[in-house]
Amino acid sequence: MRILLVEDDELLAQGMITRLKRMGYQPELCTTGKQALLAAEDSGFGLMILDLGLPDGFALDIIRQLRHSGVTMPILVLTAQSQLETKLTALNSGADDYLVKPIDVLELEARIRVLCRRQQQRTDDKLQLAGISLNLQNHHCQFQQQDVSLTRREFMLLKEFMLKPDRILSRQQLEELSYGWDGDNESNAIEVHIHNLRKKLSADVIKTVRGVGYMLVTQYGI
Ligand code: CA
Repeated sequence: MRILLVEDDELLAQGMITRLKRMGYQPELCTTGKQALLAAEDSGFGLMILDLGLPDGFALDIIRQLRHSGVTMPILVLTAQSQLETKLTALNSGADDYLVKPIDVLELEARIRVLCRRQQQRTDDKLQLAGISLNLQNHHCQFQQQDVSLTRREFMLLKEFMLKPDRILSRQQLEELSYGWDGDNESNAIEVHIHNLRKKLSADVIKTVRGVGYMLVTQYGI
């Protein structure tokens, strides 16, 4: 699997490249945000490892732009201990996971494996988990092999949940999705759409995490 590594610290980058190769991956290095964005257009990468402290300061924009253009490749961000706030922003912008420097190679290996496993449950244009199948091209949805008809907003929410299964999505994160929703008559209230999704799928699929947000659970009813 090809991994796009975006890191401007040469020593750290070389160390990671050696390690990733030893793990059987094919890492390719970019040292600036601009380079990374160009390289990420190549859909052959299975994962991106992105340092948040880049010289041209583009890391968060890269994540947003990629997600905005529908790129679902997992993104693992690398942060310095002091960048707690940036780390949260990165996750809210669409990064899948983070590691704090100095990087522990065993932890890196484990995180990559988890992200790849999650990625393998996706095919190019279809997400499939928890009994739900969602086609990202034609928005066709099935739950336990039965067709489910979704509104545009329900589709967008469900897609977001399915891209991040078993992870809590904050209300703010979900509300940010709705920025582009003006101009039709559907409600903007996240609660309303969650309620409808539960009715159309199963009440157990989307769990409320009190005071924090919501989570799509892949192992429900057991
Ligand atoms: Ca850096």
